[in-house]
Amino acid sequence: MASNGHIDFLNSASKMIAKGKDSARKPLPHPIQLNPTHLGKLNVALRRSLDNLDEELCRFEKNFSGNGKTMCWAANYNDVFDQLKEIVSQGRYSTVRFVDSPSNQTFEELGIPSFVEDSKLQLADEAQVQLFFADLLIAESGSIVLLDKDNDYLKALNNSSVNIFFTTIDHVVGSMVYADIYSKAAKNPTLEKANPPFILFSGSQNCKTYLFVVDNSRSELLAHKRQRQILACTNCGRCAEVCPVDNVIGTEPYNNVFSGPNGRVMLPFMETVEGYKHVVYACTMCGLCDSVCPMHLPIREMILASRREFLENKDIDSEMEAMVSKYKKYVTDRGKMNKMAWLKQQVFNHHLSREIKESRKIERFADKSFNQLYQESQKQK
Ligand code: SF4
Repeated sequence: MASNGHIDFLNSASKMIAKGKDSARKPLPHPIQLNPTHLGKLNVALRRSLDNLDEELCRFEKNFSGNGKTMCWAANYNDVFDQLKEIVSQGRYSTVRFVDSPSNQTFEELGIPSFVEDSKLQLADEAQVQLFFADLLIAESGSIVLLDKDNDYLKALNNSSVNIFFTTIDHVVGSMVYADIYSKAAKNPTLEKANPPFILFSGSQNCKTYLFVVDNSRSELLAHKRQRQILACTNCGRCAEVCPVDNVIGTEPYNNVFSGPNGRVMLPFMETVEGYKHVVYACTMCGLCDSVCPMHLPIREMILASRREFLENKDIDSEMEAMVSKYKKYVTDRGKMNKMAWLKQQVFNHHLSREIKESRKIERFADKSFNQLYQESQKQK
């Protein structure tokens, strides 16, 4: 990572634009209308779970474990790999099936497709081991909510020796009543249907069940009071769809499974602040994400909180700090903002790298500022 994160981001953005429309975002199907009262309840439930995460997860484990069901806690993907290796070698399994797509965000985050490849497991329709993403955990009943994306999950659940589910610690809620609301708010190819199907899975007599509950740095995010709210995100993708930055830089701008406005909040904490602090500057503060988020998450405020924290903690380097203070001085000074357009343009251009200037059209400042136009109109009266 070069020293100036902001410029790095702009550079990579311009490369994405140069790459063409391959990575352009596809619009979501028409979203169903979500009942605001129900969503409000889900929002409260998810945030309450975040406040009592240990308690809710323990309650879930107590109600889930036993009768051929094992809960596997994992701090990170190395823990996942170690435990998976043991399960596979003990059972001498050789065939596996992804019931959810291998490109599911959680599978990708945990490196499950690489595990399958490295372990030389054969992909098969009638496999000994089936891999699922667990959409939600219900603490009061110890059951797993599965969004039935292909309408064949019920059949699939009874169709192998072992079912392995993966999820992260932030996917637990207290009561079963939230399963239905969650299924409507979450990312789902069946969003157009009035009632996207979901299954409440409490175990099967015919096969062993393992559930991996993975932290993977979410505890780090939990320590940040404002930004932790992003863990209530249902990953519906609506914010990314309206984001003007995402519409330019495409779907995979950070070489990471996390992208979009929600990714901008998560990434510095999920990976490293050093490596990903620049993503919080990839935001125009337009607030469109806040206005479409079904969970009413204050994404803009969370991004601002991160910027403030990184500045206060000196997580940004001196070059970046100097640039931020220069911008601050410039845009809050009425006199400077009223300077001639060519002068403002020069200051602006000075901060852009040659690569950006070459790869995209740089907008011109208006010849006269709003203030100047207003003064002139007053004189004419
Ligand atoms: S932040 Fe809100 S709009 Fe964006 S993906 Fe999450 S729930 Fe959807």
